[in-house]
Amino acid sequence: VVVVVVVVVVVVVVVVVVVVKVMVVVVVIVVSAVEKAYFYTSKQGRDDAFVVVDVGQAYKKLKEWRQHLPRVRPFYATKCNPDVQFCNFLAQAGVGFDCASMGEIKHILGLGVHPSRIIYANPCKVLKHLRYAQEHNVDLMTFDDVHELVKIQKWFPRARLVLRIQSDKEHKAAHNLNEKFGCDPAAAYGLMKKAKSMGLNVVGVCFHVGGLAKDAKCYSTTIKTANDIYTYGEQLGFDMRILDIGGGFHGVDSETLTFRYVAETINKALDEYFPPSRGTEIMAEPGRYFAASAFTVAVNVISKKVLRPPQQDNKNKSYEEIENDNSSVIDTKYNNTPAVKRSKTNEDEISNLKREDNTISKVMYYLNDGAFGAFSNVLTDFYEPKPLCVEPPSSTETFPTQVWGPTCDHFDCVIRKCEMPQVDIGQWLYFEVMGAYSTCLATDFNAMERAKFTYVCDESSWNEVYGECGNSELHHYTDGLWEWFSYSPMKKQQGMLIRNGLNPDLEGV
Ligand code: PLP
Repeated sequence: VVVVVVVVVVVVVVVVVVVVKVMVVVVVIVVSAVEKAYFYTSKQGRDDAFVVVDVGQAYKKLKEWRQHLPRVRPFYATKCNPDVQFCNFLAQAGVGFDCASMGEIKHILGLGVHPSRIIYANPCKVLKHLRYAQEHNVDLMTFDDVHELVKIQKWFPRARLVLRIQSDKEHKAAHNLNEKFGCDPAAAYGLMKKAKSMGLNVVGVCFHVGGLAKDAKCYSTTIKTANDIYTYGEQLGFDMRILDIGGGFHGVDSETLTFRYVAETINKALDEYFPPSRGTEIMAEPGRYFAASAFTVAVNVISKKVLRPPQQDNKNKSYEEIENDNSSVIDTKYNNTPAVKRSKTNEDEISNLKREDNTISKVMYYLNDGAFGAFSNVLTDFYEPKPLCVEPPSSTETFPTQVWGPTCDHFDCVIRKCEMPQVDIGQWLYFEVMGAYSTCLATDFNAMERAKFTYVCDESSWNEVYGECGNSELHHYTDGLWEWFSYSPMKKQQGMLIRNGLNPDLEGV
C-alpha cells in the first residue's frame, strides 16, 4: 500500500510539474504573440521617417529679409528645395523664383507665378529648356560665354540677358561656384561688345559668391566689380537695369556671421555703387536662406549596436557576463594588458571607472532615413546634422556615437562622430535646419521609402499670407491628431495649423 501511495504521489507531482511547465510555455507564447500583433498593428507605418515643413518659418525669414535688405528683391533658388507647398507659400508671399531648368520653370509657372517673376539663372542652358522658356515668356536669363550667346541669338533673340561674372576670388565660400560658372570680369567687356554686335539685349550683371559664403566682404567687392561692367554696358548703349547679387546666404546665423551683418555690408556697397537714384532693380537668388530652417526631419531608431573594446577569455562566459564584466577588458592604451580589477564600492566611482575603462567604446544607431534620403545634405552640402531626442533619454550620460542611415552602403552615414546619451530602438530623433539641398537630392536607393512631408504654420504668418483664417482648407492642430507633437519642443508653437489638404497621409505619421 505504501509503495502504491508513493508511486501515485510521485506520478501526480510529475504530472502537475509538467502541466504547469506546459502552461507557462503556452502563456509565454500567447503573450508574446499578442504583444507582437499589438506592436505591428499599433506601430506599422507610424514609425516612418517624416519631414515637418514649417512654412511660417520661411515667412519669418522673408520678413527678416525685407527688413534688412529692403532694396533687394529675393528670387528663391528653386533647386534648393522645390517642395511644391513650400514654393507655393513663398509665391503667395510675393517672392520671385530662380529656375535652373525647364522642369523648374514648369513647376513654378504651375503655381500661377507670372513669368516676369522668374529668372532662368542657369548660364549653360539645355536647348529644349531654352525653347520652353521662350514659348512661356520667361525672358530674363543669365549667360557667361559667347557659345551661349550664339544659342540665345538663334532661339530667343529678344531675351533679356544678365551677364554672370565670377565673384571676388579672395573671399572663400564652402561651395566655390567660380570654377564652373561666371566669366572672368576681365573678359566681361569683350562679351558685352560681342552681345552688342549680335544685336542682343543685355540688361544686367549678376554673380554668385558661392554657397555658404564665409564672409560678407565678397558681396561688397564683387558689387564694386559688377558696377564697372554695368557702367560699361550703359556706355555701350544697353538698357542696363538689373544687378543680381545671387545666393550664398546662410540658413541660420552663426557666431561668426549674421544675416544682419551681411545685409549691412551689402547695403553699404549698394548705396555707394547703385544708389536708389540710379534706378537699378536689385535682385538676389537666396536658396538656403529660406529653406534650411523651415524643414525638420524626424526619424526612428531602427537598430543599435553597443561596441566595447576587445575582451579576453570570453569563450566560456554568457552574453550577459561579458556585457557586465569590466575586469577582462583589454586596455588598448596599455599594450593590451588587462585593465586592473577595481573594487566596486561607490556608484559614481564605478561609472567614472567605466568611462576610464572605455567599457563602451562606441554606440551606433541605424535610422530609417539617411544620406541617400532626407540627409543627402550630409553628402553634398557638408551638413553636420545635430540629433535631438523627442523623448528625454533615461540617462544624461553621453557616449561616443555614430549614426547610420538604413541602406547597405557605407557612405550612408548621417553622423560620423558625436557624443549623445543612449536611446533605444523605436525612439524618435529629430534634426532641425534640414531644408537645404536635402530632400531634393533624395534617392530611392535600396528601395527605401522617402520620408513623407507634413506642413505647419503659425496662425499669424498664415493669415498674413493667405488672408483670414476662415479658409476652409485650414484645420486647427488639436492634441492627439499628431502625437509626435506632444513630445516635441515644437509643442511650444501652440496654435499651429495643419493644412490638411496638403497632407494626404497624416495617419502615416
Ligand atoms: N543661384 C544660383 C545660380 C545657384 O547656382 C545657386 C546654388 O547653387 C543659388 C542661386 C542658391 O544658392 P544658395 O542656396 O547658396 O543661396
